Amino acid sequence: MIIEPRVRGFICMTAHPGGCAANVVDQIARVRERGPIRGPRSVLIIGASTGYGLASRIVSAFGCGAKTIGVYFERPGSVKRTASAGWYNSAAFEREATAAGLGAWGYNGDAFSHDAKARVIDLIRSHLDGSVDLIIYSLASPRRIHPSSGQTFNSVIKPIGKPFSGKTIDARSGELGDAQIGVATDEEIDHTVSVMGGDDWRIWIDALQGAGVIASGCCTLAYTYLGPDHTWPIYRDGTIGKAKEDLQRTANELDARLSASGGRALISVNRALVTQASAAIPTVAVYLAMLSPLLRERDRDEGCIEQMGRLFRERLYVDGNIPVDEAGRIRLDDYEMATEVQDAVRARWNQVTKEEFQQLLDVKGYQRDFLRLFGFGVPGIDYGADVDPEVTIPSLEF
Ligand code: NAD
Repeated sequence: MIIEPRVRGFICMTAHPGGCAANVVDQIARVRERGPIRGPRSVLIIGASTGYGLASRIVSAFGCGAKTIGVYFERPGSVKRTASAGWYNSAAFEREATAAGLGAWGYNGDAFSHDAKARVIDLIRSHLDGSVDLIIYSLASPRRIHPSSGQTFNSVIKPIGKPFSGKTIDARSGELGDAQIGVATDEEIDHTVSVMGGDDWRIWIDALQGAGVIASGCCTLAYTYLGPDHTWPIYRDGTIGKAKEDLQRTANELDARLSASGGRALISVNRALVTQASAAIPTVAVYLAMLSPLLRERDRDEGCIEQMGRLFRERLYVDGNIPVDEAGRIRLDDYEMATEVQDAVRARWNQVTKEEFQQLLDVKGYQRDFLRLFGFGVPGIDYGADVDPEVTIPSLEF
């Protein structure tokens, strides 16, 4: 099959196996370049196939030499249809990990289900010597089927109290458009909290603790975003912000519980980056197309892999206490939120008009980063070549 990008709205319906594999290999090389990390030995990553979760898995394995179990929900390929990018990423990750002698196992299915927890506990018992010492919770999902009630919850990205209007970039055409979003209902807020809040994280920790597979001193982390005030109406003060408040409450509760055995539960505030999850949030594309060149000029434009490298090397596995802010959160958004960077964003923000945006925004860079998520536009890949869309993930075959 000759695979080309087919972009619909904020998603690309196709993915390229060779391009996705090259992205993974490139991230591994960037971790190895920085040298080994004295970190965890056995890591569970929930949401491990793309974005921040995939980068956490790569740093755990190729930086720390850890065995990893990755949980993800991805579509395999068939003769007629490509797999999703996360499928190809996970296949490439396992191939590379196995070649490097690093144990890697996967669970492809709904992380919210009881089955996922039971199967992962079995994997920990059979492959990770019975316990994990780091658990990363990096899910970004549009829906959750509650494992006990069977009720479906849908997550929405909506403002609360006041309608939102802002600018957006069409990932395919690169055109600047307007986004208008009406206010969330109370039910939509509750649903979003159920999907993207801390309830499922707590259920995972309950299940793992109940099974006795959490090592003493184990750390668990979830990720959040804060960002500048232009993004607050749709992010921090909107439905997703409510879910993230719930995630923070859960972190506090889990931290109290795990610290009894020397462990921690923490939230890491990461920088805004183009991922499948963030591409769905209006305004974020405009913000990223403005932010990236400002950070590049200062040599501080990190991707997921650099962020996660810094998380492990300079936050989690340092001598002494983990550095946190006044609210107890790990901060990796320091370069993004630097005063001079945000002053520059503020000065430019209202000048983004249909006539002027090309000068202010790196739209091509945004489109390039977006397509790369799906394995397109990756240097060295022959996109005219016939490729097999069916790629296996060895650990899922058992
Ligand atoms: P992403 O879309 O790249 O990754 C989501 C992961 O969740 C994938 O591995 C996917 O397979 C998995 N997943 C989704 N639904 C699932 C389900 N039901 N069962 C099993 N796996 C499922 O997202 P991301 O941007 O890396 O986001 C990860 C976390 O980081 C989120 O909490 C997000 O809010 C946070 N974060 C993102 C940004 C950003 O700018 N992208 C910034 C700060 C924090």
